[in-house]
Amino acid sequence: MTIVTDQPISTIDLKLPSGDAAERGSTADVRQIVEGVISDIRERGDEAVREYSKKFDDYAPDSFLLSEEQLDEIVARVPEQVLEDIRFVQEQVRHMAQKQLESLSDFEIETLPGVLLGQKHVPIQAAGAYIPGGKYPLLASAHMTIVTAKVAGVERVAACTPLIKGEVPDATVAAMRLAGADEIYLLGGIQAVAAMAVGTETIAPVNMLAGPGNAFVAEAKRQLFGEVGIDLFAGPTEVLIVADEHADPFVVAVDLLSQAEHGPDSPAILITTSEDLGRTVIEHIDALLPGMSTRDFAEAAWRDWGAVHVVTTLDDAYALADRYASEHVQILTQQPREALEKMHDYGALFLGEGTCVSYGDKVIGTNHVLPTRGAARYTGGLWVGKYLRTVTYQEVVNEESSAFLGELCGRAARVERFEGHARSGDIRAAKYGGAELPW
Ligand code: NAD
Repeated sequence: MTIVTDQPISTIDLKLPSGDAAERGSTADVRQIVEGVISDIRERGDEAVREYSKKFDDYAPDSFLLSEEQLDEIVARVPEQVLEDIRFVQEQVRHMAQKQLESLSDFEIETLPGVLLGQKHVPIQAAGAYIPGGKYPLLASAHMTIVTAKVAGVERVAACTPLIKGEVPDATVAAMRLAGADEIYLLGGIQAVAAMAVGTETIAPVNMLAGPGNAFVAEAKRQLFGEVGIDLFAGPTEVLIVADEHADPFVVAVDLLSQAEHGPDSPAILITTSEDLGRTVIEHIDALLPGMSTRDFAEAAWRDWGAVHVVTTLDDAYALADRYASEHVQILTQQPREALEKMHDYGALFLGEGTCVSYGDKVIGTNHVLPTRGAARYTGGLWVGKYLRTVTYQEVVNEESSAFLGELCGRAARVERFEGHARSGDIRAAKYGGAELPW
């Protein structure tokens, strides 16, 4: 089979990944483990959920659901400054989601006399939000998934997060509660996602799953899609920086490592028009890594998935960046806003040195649940619209128009050999227009 590809872009590669791209993310092993866990939970419900939680997270309580009293105790343990920051950031996320909601329009038009066609946005009724927590307590994911669902009008939000190294992630649970989750479960990984999707004796099934996660979580959502909706494929984080000779190489190095620390499977890519800058960034990264408390993840990610490409022009840089279709794309050039016109495939853009991917991840208010592994070619990130269904309706209040449509429908359906459809049209043409029934 021949696949038509884009024109080659000439690059000098100062660093290439040492990992095998085919091995990154959803490998056959991950797929198989996820399949097994989902089918077992489907068959044995809570008993299987408890067994898998014991196996993967060493946690098997009587109930994974936190009671109001437990929630009060947990929130009381969180320092006031942390709670204040959570409230502030959730307000930023809410503001953005509300604006997105306002940008969606319901309408009704009259296309023929008395023929009314309408469109409405209807929230899904129950959503499952996954808040990751295996390596870090990712409390910002609670803002992104739960606040956004509530702005959309989702009535029931069930939310799951795992224990982190055996401990309750207090700040994450507080963020889930402040965000407005209706049910909060201390449950992680495949078992959390599967339990919310298929339902168990104690967890009612949801209509849609949202939220980021590691390769197991992302693969579980992928396998459950169809039975429930999913927001998008939001797996291990990726960053790509486009920089010209005006960028500060130290800032570039720091920002690349800020995402590489997510995990050993997180690519950090630099595309630059300046070979000098590329070389200096590599030197800075080598010097910075030993001093990072998250060195193990960042170093592995940089070694296996990091890359530095030097290109001739910024247009080539944008074109190459598009081919990566990275989750986060940061533009550190003299005219960063030109990327808004010139780039097409990315989860979110970060324009200029004043902002960074960490702002998007943690505080600024845009949603940080974003497409990975090339999914940016066909979807944007989580937003209020993902929790809504765009539905349509129609009404014909003019008999003449219904008779006209009836005749038209009779003819159109018979071309497709649909006799039953045709008769629904014929009967209206007869009733409202006096036409003879042809059968
Ligand atoms: P996580 O909560 O996603 O996964 C932890 C769970 O994985 C555990 O509770 C455990 O049950 C399960 N697990 C671990 N090893 C397993 C195994 N061998 N078999 C079966 N299950 C296993 O937390 P994490 O691991 O820290 O990953 C969070 C991920 O989320 C990171 O990769 C990060 O980059 C990503 N992320 C992505 C986005 C996005 O929008 N794309 C945003 C934020 C975070």
